[in-house]
Amino acid sequence: MAIESVGIVGAGQMGNGIAHVFALAGYEVLMTDVNADALQAAIALIDRNLERQVAKDLITAAVKADAMARIGTTVTLTDLGQSDLIIEAATERETIKTAIFEDLVPHLKPDTILTSNTSSISITRLASRTDRPEKFMGFHFMNPVPIMQLVELIRGIATDAETFKSCQEVVARLGKTSTASEDFPAFIVNRILMPMINEAIYTLYEGVGSVQSIDTSLKLGANHPMGPLELADFIGLDTCLAIMNVLHDGLADTKYRPCPLLTKYVEAGWLGRKSKRGFYDYRGETPVPTR
Ligand code: NAD
Repeated sequence: MAIESVGIVGAGQMGNGIAHVFALAGYEVLMTDVNADALQAAIALIDRNLERQVAKDLITAAVKADAMARIGTTVTLTDLGQSDLIIEAATERETIKTAIFEDLVPHLKPDTILTSNTSSISITRLASRTDRPEKFMGFHFMNPVPIMQLVELIRGIATDAETFKSCQEVVARLGKTSTASEDFPAFIVNRILMPMINEAIYTLYEGVGSVQSIDTSLKLGANHPMGPLELADFIGLDTCLAIMNVLHDGLADTKYRPCPLLTKYVEAGWLGRKSKRGFYDYRGETPVPTR
């Protein structure tokens, strides 16, 4: 099936980036959020980010204007029913995502493909709550969406080959690269990345090194572009904890137990960059380590 229109649920960090890349690739985009302010903020941010691409000569002002004109917003979820492809990028909570899909289903075209950008929730379980598990899969962008090249495509148990192929073609049209992952906790990137970040937090917790020495060690010693604690702050410590809990519960192996220090930071509301404090304090001009 040719996909031309895309509905995006959730206009947060990920939703706005997803709308940005789809509009630039020529898709008609309709974005929804329960919070009208989030929709407004997302449009303003997409405008700023596209402007930055114009300033760097990556796109022309006309291309930017066309892309902006292709993005519509609505606070009514069911307006997305006529989209060829729906990408759910709402808050990482299973009850929220399930309710979204259940509300959408009666309003969908028969051949609409449903997908979720979830970082860790079972695609098979989300699919089972819809009328079309064979047309349901994971469409997992990385953050920040306009910059990161990868999209993980996750097959639920029931996902059919045609749906998977259609999504692969969409990723290619976005100019990005897809990898295929089966539906097991945290998929591929986070299955590998999060235990490393969690281990970095244990290294801090046990006093093996300071925030600075851990991040510098991995940057200069393993050629990582960002240190693991800096990266954790960028992703959001609540998100890191949620993914570790999914790995711990889903794989029932103690090697995935979340570090108590990670839990403590989340309990304090020190969630990283988005709350201005995490392993670094971002309230001043330059980030200062908090330990
Ligand atoms: P976010 O908190 O920035 O945005 C979530 C948005 O969803 C908010 O604007 C919220 O108002 C909206 N929302 C909540 N309930 C809704 C509903 N019922 N209907 C419509 N909108 C609703 O979160 P985010 O970082 O953009 O994450 C979104 C999804 O993307 C999550 O599933 C997350 O796991 C996944 N993801 C996040 C990252 C990341 O690095 N942040 C990376 C890959 C995937």
